[in-house]
Amino acid sequence: MTNITRRGAIGAATILAAPALLGARQANGQAAAPPVVGPTFHRFRVGALTVTVVTDGTNVRADATRGLVANASPEQVAAAMQGAGLTGAAMRNPFNVTFVETPRGLIALDAGTGGFPNTDTGTLQANMRAAGLDPARVVLVAHTHFHGDHIGGLLASDGSAVFPQAEVAVPEREWAFWTDAGEESRAAENRRPNFANVRRRFAPYQQRLSRFAPDAEVAPGIRAVASNGHSPGHNSFLVHDGSQQALVIGDAITSPTFFMVNPEWYPVFDMDPTMAVETRKRLLDRAATDRMPVVGYHFDMPATGRVERAGTGYRLVPANA
Ligand SMILES: [Zn+2]
Repeated sequence: MTNITRRGAIGAATILAAPALLGARQANGQAAAPPVVGPTFHRFRVGALTVTVVTDGTNVRADATRGLVANASPEQVAAAMQGAGLTGAAMRNPFNVTFVETPRGLIALDAGTGGFPNTDTGTLQANMRAAGLDPARVVLVAHTHFHGDHIGGLLASDGSAVFPQAEVAVPEREWAFWTDAGEESRAAENRRPNFANVRRRFAPYQQRLSRFAPDAEVAPGIRAVASNGHSPGHNSFLVHDGSQQALVIGDAITSPTFFMVNPEWYPVFDMDPTMAVETRKRLLDRAATDRMPVVGYHFDMPATGRVERAGTGYRLVPANA
């Protein structure tokens, strides 16, 4: 089976599931038990390190052809979706947190959404337990960046810390930006709430928070890789042991259907599009050249695969293909 065919099968299932999912949420306004749409975690090894990608659930964008890709027409976006085997305009946007068992202990890369209204998100803790991972065992949460879908899961709905034993490591440039009162006052109105959200989500962790520089080894086997553009201080993480490595890219690449196939396209969420495109091309070239698996926060499960050159861009070959 080729990769295209496999992705087509996933796409068809997505479209069937989407209206039912949305209907259930709209009917009563409450989140019922999340529908089972696939595996909730994927585990693999990088040398002696065990990596587990755990989903926090999925949002369904009813029409991905509009308002998502900033520099392509709805027709171009629709054609890209058809090329990936999707038959409608709806598209899943999953959220996945990566956990690494290291000599230091269990480390989380980002924290999940904390649950968004009218979606099946906020399932990280349940899915962690299903994968045999206890949130109380997490010794460190290292962050790619501070958008709400990556830091929301630091807090439970009652405001307590979801990871009671964890230290928190943040990119120094990301921290500097989102804690700067001048940046907050100058920010566009739709971006301003994120500054308050950063204050709130990190509050219980303030006494155990550290900042890391680009290329820092944030823990044994986990190295920060500066990948700015999506946000001012965005970092990816290279998980490495001996000659083996995998790149947890965060939001440097969100949807492979759009931004691997067309690396010059950018989503409306990229805060510095020019830099984000440069970063994306650099990471894709490195992953393809080094045959290095990548893990995407917003990829469909298994959320992991290798990157191949394809035409003028790239494609993701999922780890289970
Ligand atoms: Zn994100």
